[in-house]
Amino acid sequence: MSEARRVLSGIAASAGVAVGEVVVFDRRGVVVPRRSIAEGDVEGEVERLEQAMAAARREVEGVLEGFADDGPSEHRLLVETQLLMLGDQMISTAASAAIRSERINAEWALRRTVDAMCDRLRGADDGYFRERADDVRHVGEHLLAVLTGQRRRALPELTLPRVLVANDLTPAEAAQLSSRRVLALVTDAGSASSHTAILARALAIPAVVGLSDATRALAPGDLVVVDALRGEVVVGADANELDAARARGARFAAFRERLRDAERQGIATEDGARVTLLANVDLELDVPEAKQEGAAGIGLYRTEFLYLERREPPNEEEQLAVYARVARRMAPRPVVFRTFDLGADKMPNAMRRGPNPALGLRAVRIAFERPELLVTQLRAILRAAADGDVRVMFPMIASVSDLRRARAMLETAREDLEAEGATYGPIRVGAMLEIPSAIVMADRLAPECDFFSIGTNDLTQYTLAVDRSDPRVAHLASSLDPSVLRLLLRAREVADAHERPIGVCGDLAADTVAAPLLVGLGFRTLSMAPAAIPLVAEALSRVDLGEAASVAREALEQDGVAEVERLVAARFGARLGELWDEQGIELPR
Ligand code: PEP
Ligand code: MG
Repeated sequence: MSEARRVLSGIAASAGVAVGEVVVFDRRGVVVPRRSIAEGDVEGEVERLEQAMAAARREVEGVLEGFADDGPSEHRLLVETQLLMLGDQMISTAASAAIRSERINAEWALRRTVDAMCDRLRGADDGYFRERADDVRHVGEHLLAVLTGQRRRALPELTLPRVLVANDLTPAEAAQLSSRRVLALVTDAGSASSHTAILARALAIPAVVGLSDATRALAPGDLVVVDALRGEVVVGADANELDAARARGARFAAFRERLRDAERQGIATEDGARVTLLANVDLELDVPEAKQEGAAGIGLYRTEFLYLERREPPNEEEQLAVYARVARRMAPRPVVFRTFDLGADKMPNAMRRGPNPALGLRAVRIAFERPELLVTQLRAILRAAADGDVRVMFPMIASVSDLRRARAMLETAREDLEAEGATYGPIRVGAMLEIPSAIVMADRLAPECDFFSIGTNDLTQYTLAVDRSDPRVAHLASSLDPSVLRLLLRAREVADAHERPIGVCGDLAADTVAAPLLVGLGFRTLSMAPAAIPLVAEALSRVDLGEAASVAREALEQDGVAEVERLVAARFGARLGELWDEQGIELPR
């Protein structure tokens, strides 16, 4: 029986269109089979539910018995609460009623009951009840795990190409996408600048993120259209719509391919102003793609991915092996290794989240707490500098003293290598400008470093106070906001005055709406996901520098994002409209 057509709307995070069957990866819990049952099986399902409750209770009692009398009392209290809830009839009565009245299997009845209870608790006025929603959810997940026999879950191995639907992926899981047969990615959480989105773009996997409840709304085996040009997921599409979507997907892929093949004598605006396009790379396996797309170098190598999902950080030799290979493969082109930006949404297993991770211990702040981590990394980077044009860049610099401290650690690493007689190379040192304070103080930072690179993802997050990983506020986080554009202009002017090279490596650089503005603001180096290079090159080749500069000046005077977009549409629409249409970009008129 064909399902009624439904459209789920989210954020288009990595362009493309794919059609395929859904695999659900629900990290919050187990995959819940959904079945209708015959009248005669109803009491059997109720019995299964009750047995699962009893088994879960026995498990929890076992845990409690194993507790030392002097163990941490909060932990005991949590487990006791769980036991109380498993003994309470509320969940089992409601779930049994659902099995009987709707004739559905125990797992599905339980999931629905628990979701409904959580929703009610979350809507309560009293904070105490709102907090209990998580307890109910944990109990529900425990019961589901017992009922289905499923335990801790890992990213599924796919034997056939599938659409992966997940709550969100940890960066380490997202990093495995390229080795899985993932046709497209759909997530509950995330925004266009979350790391899952960045990775999907780097791998050219179509992705729609920030759907809130895709893992609930979609079931394993559903045939869906993932339209990551419009930011939609369509379930229950008819044969015509499926065919049309496949055709659109193929057209977009061919279009991207055509651009990639375009003969280019370097990259330049229509009137010949040269622009250097570099690649952002998260994993070593993206390096060949960066070269293939014609990147003039690597403008941002996110080294933190080496640290994730492992017990111990990578040692110096492991890091050196990767950095030296990358430097040699790209030589004589430059590679900018950004020192680890751990924390916030990129957490290694052993690191605990603070109350406000984006404002907490992150990047160089972790290095200041644990200098040995950064010194080890810097030794590896310095040694790799003997193999190519290697540069180092420090993330999340908020002040002159941050940069001085990081540089002092670089000096320590260099002196140690020198004393040991080790081989290492010369290195240029950059500071990321991604915290507003750094741009305000850029004139003081400039004498202390060799180059700047602007991270517009974090700069936007911190300028507008919008959490880049929270889908509820994602629509407020546009780097085209005039406040962000004004900061960009200031940074570029200060860098020029101090003769420091400056580029943009945040996602704004990969945006064919924004790239002409960036060039108009005076930037001549942009670093982006490899897949975006041909698109941005094409966009820039269609704009005139004088026109871009005049549009950029006007953009700075607009009231908000919508006005900036309207301006860009009016002034560049005739040249770039076709390119935007192919990418599914719609601008306000
Ligand atoms: C940025 O913040 O724009 C950036 C390039 O770094 P990341 O996305 O890794 O935080
Ligand atoms: Mg950043």
